[in-house]
Amino acid sequence: MNLLFTISGSSGSGKTTLLELLSRDLSINISVSHTTREKREYEIDGVHYHFITKDEFDSLIAADKFIEYENVHGDFYGTTKDVIEDFLKEGKPLFLELDVKGALNLKKLYPNDTFSIFLSVPIDELENRLINRSSESEDEIKKRLSRFDQEESLKKEFDYTLINDNFETTFEELKNTVLKRIKNGN
Ligand code: 5GP
Repeated sequence: MNLLFTISGSSGSGKTTLLELLSRDLSINISVSHTTREKREYEIDGVHYHFITKDEFDSLIAADKFIEYENVHGDFYGTTKDVIEDFLKEGKPLFLELDVKGALNLKKLYPNDTFSIFLSVPIDELENRLINRSSESEDEIKKRLSRFDQEESLKKEFDYTLINDNFETTFEELKNTVLKRIKNGN
């Protein structure tokens, strides 16, 4: 049985929305990471992320609190050990939205518990989505698009990949995949 479900993919691939709906539908928690990134207007501290300074982040690194952390687009993001351990101890599934490196690292650390999912999206659609959600500056968008090839090249290392070209069918596929892994681990 898998308990840790990581979902990765390019920024703008729709993973945050998919995960939020899936977590509500299946009553599965989403791990709350720490980040040094600036809070977006719609985000809530402690719900979407724990927003902290770089100094605070460095203190957590020094205290060995992170199971994994990465520098993504120039900001730091990390998952603390206690979050993972608490859910594993209780035998409860957990969703984690991680960048590709973080997800593959977690899979190495917890090979039997982790099921890694890569969510892909056609590049031209990705560009449109990033521009339309207008939460990032032009520079930010460029940075995020430049990671696209790097992220796509790692997708073969994931347990499961799917293309988000239709929200409803992607949602159903993701939901059935997760349910199957929770029930029988196949
Ligand atoms: P965003 O700034 O769009 O919320 O997230 C940027 C990237 O950081 C996304 O790919 C997201 O999945 C990733 N990310 C969020 N939290 C973590 C974390 O705890 N660890 C790692 N490795 N990546 C994370």
